[in-house]
Amino acid sequence: MQTDVKRRRKGGPAAVDDKGGAAAPPVGRSGRAVTTDGLIVAAIPESYNNQLTVVRRKLISPQAERLMVAFENIREGLVMYDDDERLVMMNPRYAEMYAIPPDLQKPGVRFAELLDYWGRVGLLDVEDNLTARRDVASRDTASCVRLHLCDGRVYELNEQPLPGGGWVSTHDDITARVRAEERILFLARHDALTGLENRASFHEGLSSHLAKATKDGTPNRFALMMFDLDRFKAINDQLGHDRGDQVLSLIGRRVFRKLPHGTRVARLGGDEFAIILDVADRSMARSVAADVVAAISEPFEFDTVTAEIGASLGIAYHPDHGDDVTTLMKCADQALRAVKSRPAEAILEYDRTLGDAETARDELINRLPGALDTGEIALHFQPIINAATGQCTSAEALLRWRHPTLGMVAPDRVIELAEESRLMPRLGLWILKRALAAASGWPRHIGVAVNLSAIQFREEGFAESVLAAIAEAGVEPERLELELTETLLCDDSAVATIKKLRYQGVRFSLDDFGTGYASMSYLLRFPFDRVKIDRSFVSSVDIRTDRRIIVEAIAGLADRLGLEVVAEGVETEGERRIVQSVGCGFLQGYLFGKPMPEADFRAFLDH
Ligand code: C2E
Ligand code: CA
Ligand code: CA
Repeated sequence: MQTDVKRRRKGGPAAVDDKGGAAAPPVGRSGRAVTTDGLIVAAIPESYNNQLTVVRRKLISPQAERLMVAFENIREGLVMYDDDERLVMMNPRYAEMYAIPPDLQKPGVRFAELLDYWGRVGLLDVEDNLTARRDVASRDTASCVRLHLCDGRVYELNEQPLPGGGWVSTHDDITARVRAEERILFLARHDALTGLENRASFHEGLSSHLAKATKDGTPNRFALMMFDLDRFKAINDQLGHDRGDQVLSLIGRRVFRKLPHGTRVARLGGDEFAIILDVADRSMARSVAADVVAAISEPFEFDTVTAEIGASLGIAYHPDHGDDVTTLMKCADQALRAVKSRPAEAILEYDRTLGDAETARDELINRLPGALDTGEIALHFQPIINAATGQCTSAEALLRWRHPTLGMVAPDRVIELAEESRLMPRLGLWILKRALAAASGWPRHIGVAVNLSAIQFREEGFAESVLAAIAEAGVEPERLELELTETLLCDDSAVATIKKLRYQGVRFSLDDFGTGYASMSYLLRFPFDRVKIDRSFVSSVDIRTDRRIIVEAIAGLADRLGLEVVAEGVETEGERRIVQSVGCGFLQGYLFGKPMPEADFRAFLDH
C-alpha cells in the first residue's frame, strides 16, 4: 500500500488500494479542487441534471474557465481523478459513454466504486481494467490505451498523470475505426473469395504451429496437406469465371465443414489450398484427406448445369518429413505434384523417392535446351493417307527425345516439362521450324501437321512467329496444318489467332476429337478445316458397335459442317474398312506407317 501511494505521489495516475480508496478527499465539502500548480480551482458540482454532469463552478483562472467549457463540450469523454482516486470531475460525454448513474457522477466518488458499478452492470471486466489502470499508473508520462468493453465497444483512453497526483483522461469511442481496421487486417490475411486464410497468413500460422509443436519436448505430429482442383480450368472456361469463383467459394465452405474445429485451412492462390491438421497417426490424416476430396468431388448444381470437379491432395508429416516451413511445404507440394501425374489416385503421402523423381525431372529440364541442339531431340513424321486413293497427303510431326540413359522420353512428358519450365515457346518454335524445314524438301503436295501446346498458342505474337517461320522455310502456308486440342480453345483471342493464320492459308485441325468436354460446340465456334477422331474411338471400331456409332456420328456431323475427317490410330485392316465406310476421308495409324525419322519418311514417300 505504501509503495502504491508513493508511486502515485510521483505523479502517476492512481491505483485503487484494496480497501477501495484513500482517506482524504481532494475535493472537500468546502467545494474546491486544487491542482498542485494552482491552475484550476473548481467549485464542486452540487446538482446533476438529466444524467449529465452539470458543473457549477467558480473559476479563478480564465484558462481554467476555457478548460471547463471544453470539458463539457468535447466529443470525447473526459474525467479527472485526484491523487486519492476520487472523482474530481467528469464531462457529460463521459457519463454517457460509461452509463454512469447520477449518484456516481458526483465529485468525491471513488474510482473503485465506479469499477464496482461497471462490474455489476457487466460493462467492464473489472480485473482487466484494474490491471490496465495500474499499468498506466506506474508510468510517469501520458499514455494511450485501448479499453475493450464487454459489449464489444472499444474506447481509446489518453491518460495524463497530473503533477500533484491523480490523472485526467479522455475517452474516445473508436469502435467503428477498430472494426474497419479489423476488416482491413482480415482482408490482408484472408482470401476475399473463400474467406479462408491466405498464403502469407498460412505461412505464419504454420511457423507458429511448428514452434508450438516443437517447444514442449516431444514433437507433436501434424499433417500438412496441400491440394488443388482437377478440371477446374474447364469450369472457368466453359461456365465462366463467375461460376468458377462460386465453385471456389463453395469448396472453401465444404472443406471447412469437414475439418475438426480449429484446423487451419488456407487458399494459397488460384485453385490451390492447404491444411494444417493435428493428427494422432497417419490413418487419421488419410481419413480426413479422403473426406476433403470426397466433399470437393460432390457435384455442384447450378440452375441449368451440373459441374463436377475433383481434387488431388499431397500430405507431408511433421516431424517425419521436416521441421521447418520450407521443407514441409516442399514435401507436401512434391506429394501433390506426384499424385497429379497418377490419374487413378487422389491422395498421396510424401516419401523420399518422390524427391528422386523430382531430381530426375529437374535434370530433364536442365538438359532439354541442349538436347535440341545435339540431336537428342528430333521430329519423327507419321504419314496421313487419303482413304480414297491410298496416297500419302501429309505427315504429322511428332516429337521424340532419346535420352542417353533414360531412353525414350514420352512426347507428352517433354511438352509438360517444357511448359512447366517456360521452355515451351522455344521448343514450340523449334518444332515448327524443323517441321517446315523438313516439308520444304518434300513434294509440294505433301503437307505437314504440327501439334501446338496450349502455352505456345497463347504466346503473345504467336501468329506472327508462325508466319515468319513459313516465310523462312519458303513453304506455301497451305501446306502447314496446325493441330489444336479442345483444352487449348477457351477464349475469343483463340478465334482471332486462328482466323488471322487461316486468312494467310494455314490450315487447322481439331485433334483428339471426342475426348474433351465440348467437342461439338467447339466445331461450331472455331473455324477448323479438319477433325481428327481420337484413337480411343477408332481402336476396335470393327468389333465395338458403340465406337462405330460414335465415329459415324462424328464423321456425319463433320461432313455437314464441311470439314475433313481424319481417323487416328488405324492399326488393322478391319478398322480401316469401317472408318472409311462411315465417311472418314483421311487415315493415320500404324497400318500405314509409324512415326519415322525424316529420312525414312522421304524413303516412304519415294516408295
Ligand atoms: P497426338 O497428337 O494424338 O499424336 C498421335 C499419337 O498417336 C502419337 O503418339 C502417335 O505415335 C500415336 N499413333 C499414331 N498412330 C497410331 C496407331 O496406329 N496406334 C497407336 N497405338 N498409336 C498411334 P506420340 O508420338 O506418343 O505422341 C503422343 C502425344 O504427344 C501426341 O498425341 C501429342 O499430343 C503430343 N505430341 C507429340 N509430339 C508433339 C509436338 O511436337 N508438339 C506438341 N505440342 N505435342 C506433341
Ligand atoms: Ca496430333
Ligand atoms: Ca491425336
